[in-house]
Amino acid sequence: MSRPGNKIIQAKLVLLGDMGTGKTSLVLRFVKGQFFDNQEPTIGAAFFTQILSLTEATVKFDIWDTAGQERYHSLAPMYYRGSAAAIVVYDISSMDTFTRAKKWVQELQRQGNPKVVMALVANKCDLDQKREVENEEGEQFAQENGMFFIETSAKTAQNINELFYEIAKRLARVY
Ligand code: GDP
Ligand code: MG
Repeated sequence: MSRPGNKIIQAKLVLLGDMGTGKTSLVLRFVKGQFFDNQEPTIGAAFFTQILSLTEATVKFDIWDTAGQERYHSLAPMYYRGSAAAIVVYDISSMDTFTRAKKWVQELQRQGNPKVVMALVANKCDLDQKREVENEEGEQFAQENGMFFIETSAKTAQNINELFYEIAKRLARVY
């Protein structure tokens, strides 16, 4: 519920990151509270909305999930053009996806909105026994690139709400 005088921010949010890192799962966990072990690769663009109310603002997220184009390691600039926030996702059990995440961040910095609020998300933190990327590596890269960093699990729901609340808070500061 929005309070009188509370500002309303409509924010386009995009997800970037390699196929299989859990982008669709993160969104479905946040928007619907669901998780599927055999999440189908998204076919066709997927669009979701969700509203978060903070004391300082009400944030209406327009969330754009990829349609599998990330398989080709590129996304049309129109996908992230005009986005107020971006989530770059990697999988802690795959160093390759972390390497690719760095490339996605560079692409966003080259072509995206300069004011974009960026989050680096280390997903699948429930797979700690298969970990290839240390928490500190993610943290350091995020810090160097003005992003905030969080480890999540779409499977267990760990830090999913925290992720979106933090983005909303930062949006309220910028917009
Ligand atoms: P996307 O290609 O980036 O959209 O990734 P998906 O959301 O389709 O997820 C790819 C696979 O990883 C699916 O089998 C999911 O069930 C699984 N997955 C997603 N998030 C997690 C997680 O946090 N933990 C674990 N263990 N598996 C996950
Ligand atoms: Mg997907």
